[in-house]
Order: sequence, then structure tokens, then C-alpha cells
Amino acid sequence: SGPRLSGVTKAETTCNYCAVGCRFDLYGKDGEVLGVRPADEDATPANDFSTCVKGKFGYDFVNSPNRLTTPLIREGDEFREATWEEALDKVYEGLSKIREETGDDAIAVTSSSKCTNEENFLAQKFARQVLHTKHVDNCARLCHSSTVAGLQQTLGYGAMSNRINEDIGKTDCYLITGSNTTGSHPVLATRIKQNVDDGADLFVFDPRKIGLAEHATQYTQTKPGEDIAWINGMVRYIIENDLHDEAFIEERTKHFDELKEKVQPFTPEKVEELAGVPPEELTNAAETIAEADTCIFGWAMGMTQHAHGTRNVIALTNLALVTGNLGKPRAGVSPFRGQNNVQGGGGDMGPAPHTLPGYQDLSDDDVLDKFEDAWGVRPPDEIGLRLPEQYEAITEGHIKGMFIMGENPVLSEPDIREAENAIEELDFLVVQDIFLTETAEFADVVLPAASNAEKSGTFTNTERRVQRVRPAVEPPGEARTDSDILADLAGRFGFDWDYDGPVDVMDEINDLVPIYGGVTYDRLESTPEGLQWPCEDEDDPGTPFLYEDEFNFDDGKARFVPADYGGPVELPDEEYPLMLTSGRVLYHWHTGTMTRRVEVLMDHVPESFVTIHPEMADRLGVKDGEYVRVTSRRGDIVTKANVEETSDPGVVFIPMHFAHGAINELTQHALDPTSYIPEYKVTSVRIEPLGPD
Ligand code: SF4
Repeated sequence: SGPRLSGVTKAETTCNYCAVGCRFDLYGKDGEVLGVRPADEDATPANDFSTCVKGKFGYDFVNSPNRLTTPLIREGDEFREATWEEALDKVYEGLSKIREETGDDAIAVTSSSKCTNEENFLAQKFARQVLHTKHVDNCARLCHSSTVAGLQQTLGYGAMSNRINEDIGKTDCYLITGSNTTGSHPVLATRIKQNVDDGADLFVFDPRKIGLAEHATQYTQTKPGEDIAWINGMVRYIIENDLHDEAFIEERTKHFDELKEKVQPFTPEKVEELAGVPPEELTNAAETIAEADTCIFGWAMGMTQHAHGTRNVIALTNLALVTGNLGKPRAGVSPFRGQNNVQGGGGDMGPAPHTLPGYQDLSDDDVLDKFEDAWGVRPPDEIGLRLPEQYEAITEGHIKGMFIMGENPVLSEPDIREAENAIEELDFLVVQDIFLTETAEFADVVLPAASNAEKSGTFTNTERRVQRVRPAVEPPGEARTDSDILADLAGRFGFDWDYDGPVDVMDEINDLVPIYGGVTYDRLESTPEGLQWPCEDEDDPGTPFLYEDEFNFDDGKARFVPADYGGPVELPDEEYPLMLTSGRVLYHWHTGTMTRRVEVLMDHVPESFVTIHPEMADRLGVKDGEYVRVTSRRGDIVTKANVEETSDPGVVFIPMHFAHGAINELTQHALDPTSYIPEYKVTSVRIEPLGPD
């Protein structure tokens, strides 16, 4: 912790909401977080002095009287308070029984992108070394797994290629799609708006006229789930009109001819038919993007959460490559990652069933030898089940126990009634969290954890920048850091995790994860702006933008991968005539476990709602502010109508943050075959008015 003045602690830390990674000073006293103030300019590479409303006021959840303060053990339908000894013994017994009776792979571990890199490294180590299960995953599966899969196939690294301030803030042109940037990544959106004011072109392609569209050179309304059509159409138009970067394609890429052939069917007329994009808007955007010196291609879950999410990302990367917008400053591919540490904790640290930390191949014997030497146990070398598959496996009787650290699948999985039924069938569930979440309600043992305001470690933001996190207050009651809890549990299973704090965990990461080889705490202390991976050794200054000399393949060349057309899995019909899409609002975050406990944020948006176009509202007989029933093939919810003209009349929107009126009662389980991300973004529904309350 930082210096203390009259009992007040100042912690130079990183925001625990979105992955912009804003830095600020967090103040605390006597267990209470007091507030946030701007940090020194040197230490705020992503945000300068700014924060958004979540960064500024969102820390109040730390002070909530509902924080978990003691371990809980289920007795019948109730929980009783327990000592740590009792609770950890119970976890040891419960998990051991399943391993003995059914085998190691009958247990699945869920890690958390909200937690630090060090904690995520330990969570996957707990799964692979201590429990020896191959089933470890995290919620990145549900947000940007298709980004990672798409970028790895085309460019090599599953990450943003560029910086926020120096590149996104200074480019000549933007194509932003499937991202409500002003709501989800507000400080990053401010960079874009400032640069557009200074003359940059901004193209926004989105089914909803989101806030950023107000600042756009051109806003184009697209049909949900039809992105491959318009992106391939742009690529085709650029090639047909000789606007592509021939020298770049020749020197730095492979398979251009295959791409050229595959995009042939996507004429402007075909694109209009499939995606609803007027030909003049398609060609205007394509020409401006191709002629700009530099362009940033930005996206979020509107691109990724589809049954063809990986192909969406590949299509967009093809567009960046044909226009030569990689490997140079002020250009690049920019997935805007959602959670504070989803890049690091959810991706880089390897709590995923198909990859070891640092995206190392779990079928490579040299890699496995290295981990075995360090851990004394060889990690499982088979690919485990991805998160949505794990819930199927529970129903089929293959998975009998779960250890969930800091996630809330009962709200975040698609078709949550199914997920809830599956969770109920588990023989043994452990939830480690800061609140008694909707998921924790089902647990056999609940372990109270420290929040990010109460711990030390690192987060990696969306631009691959590793930054320090420091505590401003002590955890409440008997709550403990996730690392301490995991280490104690490992001890019960006979593994002596002798770490003297997160610095020691980072030492192990330095040894085992090449892209983090030079990211040491000593360097982070003396480099307040953090270090961007790959950073392979102590002399490596890190990598502000990727692919300057080569792409991350043995031959150094990027791959064009043709993106075959794919549309929505469910199309509207007579019974379910509307297309429902989902997203975030500025004042909330994910399943709302933290923001729904912050009064200032709840004052702005207190409950779930469905946004309906005025024409459609008229047709349905729905008035603004009335409650309506929204029904899909999976279930139904009651929520408030928000009549507003942001989309086509046939498209409605519900935010993802609420337990009552939860959108995932409606969404479907269709999965992308490469990344296994669910199709959250397009669901067919009907809406019926319920009349005034
Ligand atoms: Fe936090 Fe993101 Fe807001 Fe910055 S933009 S203050 S990182 S929520």
C-alpha cells in the first residue's frame, strides 16, 4: 500500500471495470474506499487524467454492507457461517470425493477476468497441477474468444495490435463496428471523438445508432448478424477498383488469390440484399478507408458474439490487411476488450482448455516438459471443455463438481434456465466471490474474496499493457485474496505453494510465459506507464504496436483466410417476429454484481429495459415506460419499454446487466464452431404489452 496520511491510504492503481485500463489514485481509510483522484500524468498512458462515471463513482461496491465477510457452508436450503478451516476442509473433501469416484476430469474450474494476472495464473495452475483436470476456462469464452481465434489464424497474436493514445487517438480514419464505444469504453471513445473533431474520418457500421454514430462521418445501419456480407463486400470493392495495397500484400501476406476469389459474390447489390447496406454507403466507406494513410478497425461483442464470430473477425482482419493497415503506427486491428483484465487474466495467463499460459501449445512436449519441471506435475495435454460445453457435460453426467472464482454463469451463460438446471445437478459447487451472487446462491461452499481495491497484482489492458494494481483498504471481515485462498487449498491437496505475494507469482510467470519474460515488478515500479507484451526479457522495452517487421508465424507473413458467409442462426418468423440484440449501458457492467450495488449508477439506470422503435411500439400498442413481456423460444421476461429510435423497427435491444428481466433467459445456445462463443447477439422474440403498472 501507498503512503498513509492521517490514516488515509493512497493507492496508485488501475480501474477494475473496462479494459481501457485507466489509471488513478484510489483513497481509502479504515476499510472504506473514499474516492478516486487523477494520478500523475506519467502513470496514465491510456487515460491522461480522465475517467468515466464507472471509474469515478463505481468503487462504492467495495463499501457495500452486502460484501461476503465469512466463509459459508450450505446446510439444507440455508447457509451457515463457517471458519476458514471448516470451509477449506469441506472444499478439499468435496473435490477429493469426486476425483476418487469419477476421476480428475469430473471437475471444472472457472477463472475470472476481473482478477489479477497472478490470480488467474494460479487458478489455472490449481486446475492443472493440483486437481489435474483439463477443464479450465473463463468468461473470455463469452466475449472475445472469437477475436483471439480469428487474429491468431491471420496475424499470429490474439490481441489488439496497436496503442490507445498514440495510435487510436491519432489515426486518420476509423471503421468501428459492433461496439457501443461511448457506453462500454468511454475514455477510449473520448480519444476517438477528439481525433474526429481534429479531422479524422469515422465510419460506424452497426444495427443500432449508438452514441458514437452522432460523431461519425457516416453511420450505416446494418442488419444484425450480417457482417461478413458487408465486410467481404468492402474487400471486393477495394480489390476490384485497385485500391488495395499491392506492395504490402506482396511482401507481407499469403493467400491473397484465395481471398480475391471468395469475395467475388459480394457485389454492392448482394450486400444490400443481405446486410441492408446501401451501395453508396458501402463504396464511400471502402474508398475512404482504402485511401486513408492509416486506419484503425475497432470492434467489440457486436462482431464476436455470433455463431460465426470468428469469421466476422477474420473478415475484418482481411480488410485491414488488403489496405495495408498493420505493422505501422496509427493503424491496426483493435478489439475493445470488455473486462479490466480479460486480455491478461482471461487470455495471456492461460486459464483456457486449449492453451497453456502465454498461448503455448498444450500438445507440445517441450512446453509440457517446462511446466512439469516447474510444477512437478505434467499438465493435462488434451483440450478440455469450453465453458458452454461444460454445462452440457454436467447434464450428461460427465462433470460433477465446479470451482468458480469470480464469475456469475447463472446470469452470463446463454439460455440461463438451462445453465441453472445444470448447476443444480452438480454434486459439489464452490464459489469464491466478493458477493453472494446469483450463482453463489447454488453453492455448497462460498469463499469470501478480496475485491480489486484490496489486493496487489497486475492487470493487462486492451492494448496489451501490463499495469500495477495496489490496495487502498483491507478486505472486510475474514475475506481473503483469491491467491491466498488458492494457495491454502493447494496446501490441503499436498502442494506447497510457497509464494511471498504476487511478486513471486510474477517471477514464475516470467520463467514460464515467454511474452511476459521481462515483465517484472521491479521494472513496473520504475516504469509507471507499464509494459506492453511481447516483452521477452529484462532488456526488452516491450512492444507498443505489433507486426512492425513480421507477423507472428515462422515465415513472418500474415495469412488471408477467406471468411465464408454466415448469417443469424434464428431468423424472425410469424411467432417471433422481432430480432433482439444485446449490449451494455454506460452506467453498468456485465452481470451487474458490482454496479448494481452503486447508488450513483443505479440512480441513472435502475432496472432492465427493452428499447423499441416508436413505429413498432405503435404497432404493438406499447407505451414508453410500460412493462412488456418479451418471449423467445427459450423463455420469457418482463421488462420496461424504452421507446426510442435507435434501430430498424424490426430490431429491439436489452442490456445484459440485470438479474430481473435478464436477457439470457431468452438467448440461445448456438456456438461458433471455432471459438465456442455463443450467439448472444441475435435472438428472435415477440413482445406483448402488459399495460400500465
Ligand atoms: Fe474504468 Fe473503462 Fe471508465 Fe476508464 S473507461 S474509468 S477503465 S470503466
